[in-house]
Amino acid sequence: MTDLTAQALDALDRLGVKDPFDPAGELSCHSPIDGSELGRLRGNTVQDVATIIGAAHAAFLDWRAVPAPVRGRLVRELGELLREHKAELATLISIEAGKITSESLGEVQEMIDICDLAVGLSRQLHGLTIATERPGHRMMEQWHPLGVVGVISAFNFPAAVWSWNAALAFVAGDAVVWKPSEKTLLTALACQSLAAEAARRVGAPAAITSILIGDHTVGAALVDDARVPLVSATGSTRMGKEVAPRVAARLGRSLLELGGNNAAIVAPSADLDLAVRGIVFSAVGTAGQRCTSLRRVIVHESIHDDLLARLASAYETLPIGSPLEPGTLVGPLIDQQAYEAFGAAVDQAQADGGTLVTGGQRAEVADGYYVHPAIIAMPSQTDIVKAETFAPLLYLLTCRDLDEAIALHNDVSQGLSSSIFTLDAREAELFLSATGSDCGIANVNIGPSGAEIGGAFGGEKDTGGGRESGSDAWKNYMRRTTNTVNYSAELPLAQGVEFA
Ligand code: NAD
Repeated sequence: MTDLTAQALDALDRLGVKDPFDPAGELSCHSPIDGSELGRLRGNTVQDVATIIGAAHAAFLDWRAVPAPVRGRLVRELGELLREHKAELATLISIEAGKITSESLGEVQEMIDICDLAVGLSRQLHGLTIATERPGHRMMEQWHPLGVVGVISAFNFPAAVWSWNAALAFVAGDAVVWKPSEKTLLTALACQSLAAEAARRVGAPAAITSILIGDHTVGAALVDDARVPLVSATGSTRMGKEVAPRVAARLGRSLLELGGNNAAIVAPSADLDLAVRGIVFSAVGTAGQRCTSLRRVIVHESIHDDLLARLASAYETLPIGSPLEPGTLVGPLIDQQAYEAFGAAVDQAQADGGTLVTGGQRAEVADGYYVHPAIIAMPSQTDIVKAETFAPLLYLLTCRDLDEAIALHNDVSQGLSSSIFTLDAREAELFLSATGSDCGIANVNIGPSGAEIGGAFGGEKDTGGGRESGSDAWKNYMRRTTNTVNYSAELPLAQGVEFA
């Protein structure tokens, strides 16, 4: 047994997952830290999916009748369990997804935060009272539980994405069936264990929370099941384009959180010290494997050379290594495929006329796929720049004015997150206006990554249009009914229609 396997098993044990491995299992769990196999798991079959969804639906029929503030207790328990087990869940995330400890702890904190938000929401799932044209009538809307919510999640937020969905779905009165990434199954087993314990503590039906272990074929069975009114799918745009038409074919709802190609504009007035710190965190954090990672910097020509020099010197001192080592800022890529995609993009950008300013090579750390984060100065926004490469690869583009910067900014198919570094209020407001950034998230003087749970999270265009987390995203997990009550003895018809 490797040291990492021992650490993972210890964390799992403390999270309530006992002896998960089966040497005969068909699914292999790896750590990107050293590429080693942690163990093997037996997956669910497509037949299992139908049974699990059936049980979830039955649990939903009971859960929907529990008053929402009482449902909130389940999520409060989940939040308490996450507080109690923050360190071991973070260790598991680092071992399986390769995040540095601080970011893994941050991911668990994000789960705690969404639980807090959802508990408050459980007393605020309110509808409107609306003026009616008919005398002696009242019109209002109510929000009711929706049903079984299918959650599909990506490897890079192996726990938080589930919690964004699950915490809201549970207070909304729904059951959750989760298909996690096949690359981060142990973290998913741990989250499921905590949710099951929270359900047990409050006496909620056990099948309110369940998990499907398997690859995209298991995911597809979830997507196709008519007993799942909402499929919330987080992952690549390729996956979203497969999932969305299948859900639409049965007239289900989908909530899509897909790829990004996020940019920052750096204007001549920018505070460059601040901009450099914001850019480096957003481009290099999580080894460039966040959906909101910064991938393009669009800098004014007058400060291009200065910014480039500062970024290059910041990149050259970045500590690369095991995410479990204190002081590391850049951990590994998830696997060989991610490493090859990084290398291919670096080569293609140079073939397109780009200048490799720094990085781009493999860093020799253990047996994992570690890389030196790259900056490439591009003469124009070529196809490779318009594609999302899920790695620490930053393209630098030059602009002459803000109009050109915004045009370049919006000239990609994705629309997740964006930012501008400027001290000019006019420029900042224009960027945030209807004619500025076309993304779901637009920031001023911070990078595009590192969102808080209080705001709605998601993006436009190829990012899929979904919104999760805060603001009114909870409405996605409920169904709205409009009710008209006649408290008079007359029967006036709307629009003045006479029927007598
Ligand atoms: P991926 O698309 O390869 O896989 C995501 C999930 O979809 C996995 O659980 C996978 O098994 C499942 N899946 C794939 N094809 C499917 C199908 N046909 N039917 C059902 N399920 C299917 O993504 P990944 O490599 O794990 O994650 C990286 C991608 O996710 C990046 O593009 C990133 O930008 C995106 N992402 C987006 C957000 C967001 O909120 N917008 C958040 C995290 C990650």
